[in-house]
Amino acid sequence: MLVCLISSCKGSLVIEWAPTSITHNQETIWMIEMKHLMRGARLSEIDLNISAPALLWLCSIYIMLADNQYFWRALLKLIDISTWSGISFCFSIMAILTCVFSVIFHAFSAKVILKPVLILILILAAGVGYFQTKYGVIIDKSMIQNVVETDYKEASELISFSLLFYLALYGLLPALVVGLVTVRYRPFVKESLIRVLSLFGAAFLAGFLIWANYKNFVLIGREHRELRMFVNPTAPLYEAYKFAQNKYFKVVEGPIQAIGLDGHQSTQYLQARKIEGKKTIVVLVVGETARAKDFALNGYARETNPELSKDDVVSFNNTYSCGTSTAESVPCIFSNLDRVDYSSSDAGRHENLLDVLSHSGVNVLWRDNNSGCKGVCNRVSYEDVSNLSIPALCNTSECFDEILLHQLQERIQQNNGDIFVVLHQKGSHGPAYFKRYPEAFRRFTPECTDSAPQNCQKETLLNAYDNSILYADHFLHQTIKFLKSMSGQYNAVFLYVSDHGESLGENGLYLHGLPYALSPDEQRHIPMIAWVSSGYAASFGLDQQCLKKHVGQAYSHDNIFHSMLGLFGVETKQYKKDHDIFRQCLAGIKDSS
Ligand SMILES: [Zn+2]
Repeated sequence: MLVCLISSCKGSLVIEWAPTSITHNQETIWMIEMKHLMRGARLSEIDLNISAPALLWLCSIYIMLADNQYFWRALLKLIDISTWSGISFCFSIMAILTCVFSVIFHAFSAKVILKPVLILILILAAGVGYFQTKYGVIIDKSMIQNVVETDYKEASELISFSLLFYLALYGLLPALVVGLVTVRYRPFVKESLIRVLSLFGAAFLAGFLIWANYKNFVLIGREHRELRMFVNPTAPLYEAYKFAQNKYFKVVEGPIQAIGLDGHQSTQYLQARKIEGKKTIVVLVVGETARAKDFALNGYARETNPELSKDDVVSFNNTYSCGTSTAESVPCIFSNLDRVDYSSSDAGRHENLLDVLSHSGVNVLWRDNNSGCKGVCNRVSYEDVSNLSIPALCNTSECFDEILLHQLQERIQQNNGDIFVVLHQKGSHGPAYFKRYPEAFRRFTPECTDSAPQNCQKETLLNAYDNSILYADHFLHQTIKFLKSMSGQYNAVFLYVSDHGESLGENGLYLHGLPYALSPDEQRHIPMIAWVSSGYAASFGLDQQCLKKHVGQAYSHDNIFHSMLGLFGVETKQYKKDHDIFRQCLAGIKDSS
């Protein structure tokens, strides 16, 4: 049937669902075809006739084979295809997937939408297939959230020749064939009957094969639940449905729920602050895509921290992120919920750390050089500095992270009292790591300058990425230097924590965003670095040497909410003292423990 489909010319062939319904005898067909080919038939003359069910089945087979390479690779590692039972199980899964796709496509087989839906699905499945096979990315709910919330600059970096070529070959080409064929419809009753038979046939065959292979499904399904997330395009379509339902169709239960309304700065804290008469500033730098293992401060062999290493900082080298993507991690960092209890919908309905600090009388400022605060900063001062045009710090497409310090002193001094400043970095955002740093930080060479990292050698990719860490080191050092310059008025604490890590080709994976349970250490193990001014340490009895004794302690984003409240001496029911990184090193606490 496939051969006929490819070689048929205008008026020469009618393909029906039932083999008996081919309307010309084979000999005549080939003769007419050959005549057309000899005459050099143009593409516009091609007129393939095919019934709707046949088209649906062909598309199902194509997608099952061409767009599910990632799934097949993963499955074939688990099945022994040197045995007959392995081969039979493998073919059963092929048939089941084809049937399942076919059942779904039948639901969209009304005349007016049949072709547009199939074309859309073919292109979409090719796009998903590309990111699965080239980057090892899984398109789940949080990945879709990232796609929806990303900005043009971030998205455009993913577009490469490699992507366009893949899309053209696996998506546009079959879509073109679908666009060119003529779908032949029979009289209504006959057409309906054939479609019902086709639909139920697919459902019955899938059901029968699942029943026949039930034992194998249970064994593999229980141990490797992740496999269902690789099935393209049903898994990403289902995840998109879940995302849309949650984001756009969920009934909002009243206004955002306040938390920490009982928050206030403790008397003990206010008295200690009074002695020196200085206000407190805490700067939390939310990093981007930095992984702990590329920091020299954590033992990396390359000198990626030449500046921070001179700043008397404390690098907590056993810290893990809440999620593996910006959209998931950023709200989680500021949420009062621990990772195990966290859900983005819950967090979106409740206030967060920034609100609790505001309720407690602390000023809050969020400065952003990334793609926004993901809803976290909706009720506090916010500045997007990513589009400023300061020649020394920005080029035509973006600003380097030092822009976050531009006129920061003036902004801080507009406030009276303590202030909490969040600086949201562009950091090491991929895949174009080479765009994240100025020329002066191009120290590890040669570097990968391709937006498709899988096209680069591993060493050059690492060079580009490590250069971006080198620049982050410089930016963080500059931030500490800035805080030192404010020491006449402020006691300062600095904390840097990345939102998640990154895969750079380890085990064939690139970028980030894998479901947490499946994600490798590189995507979750993040740097967290603290610096405490001598003024703050003296006023509040925070022992830096004590902090250094805890560098290997297991920390995570769960600790940030409580540690920030602790630094401002905030008392509230929301505060969990055992989650506060600094509390164990406060003089009074340390002495009494
Ligand atoms: Zn991120």
